[in-house]
Amino acid sequence: MARYRGAVCRLCRREGEKLFLKGDRCYSDKCAIERRPYPPGQHGQGRKKLSEFGLQLREKQKAKRIYGIMERQFRNYFEKAERQPGITGENLLRLLERRLDNVVYRLGLASSRAEARQLVRHGHFTVNDKKVNIPSYLVKPGDEIAVREKSKESPKFKEIAEAAAHKTPPAWLELNVETLKGRVLALPSREEIDVPVQEHLIVELYSK
Ligand code: SF4
Repeated sequence: MARYRGAVCRLCRREGEKLFLKGDRCYSDKCAIERRPYPPGQHGQGRKKLSEFGLQLREKQKAKRIYGIMERQFRNYFEKAERQPGITGENLLRLLERRLDNVVYRLGLASSRAEARQLVRHGHFTVNDKKVNIPSYLVKPGDEIAVREKSKESPKFKEIAEAAAHKTPPAWLELNVETLKGRVLALPSREEIDVPVQEHLIVELYSK
């Protein structure tokens, strides 16, 4: 699956807020948005007020960037969300949250979604005891996500385990830090999805 390969801090500066795409660096004073809090590019500091379409577009771009998804796949999620009962915008965010790379990140087993995606791709995780190396795999309530036995011994996962001990997963997930096994307790409610996205604007954009 294609992914963005450019400078990720540019994406935050473009959206005008921290999207937390780089793990620990995002919490340090090296964060680009702290240093240059204006959009990138020659005209970055001269941009004007956004139109209604502009606002909707920015919200969609922001959601794509947070979850690291390209347009085609994002559109597919939207179409799937539309077919589900309930509020389309919330369905969309819930689908994005259910991605295995996001769940690994939410469990505290990676410092960013990008790192989580790489760890999943490299085959370090199982879902219900079966190796899964597809970052877009959608988990469901009751699923157990675990670090593979072989991987647990690596220095990388020792470091991850140490860091995970200081993090608290959201209420819809639980993690056993000793065994590095997580579980999906439920699907997240909108209040439990802490992304700075106004999903109704995305729905309006795609409904034109
Ligand atoms: Fe965004 Fe993190 Fe870069 Fe700051 S350090 S601009 S939050 S990706």
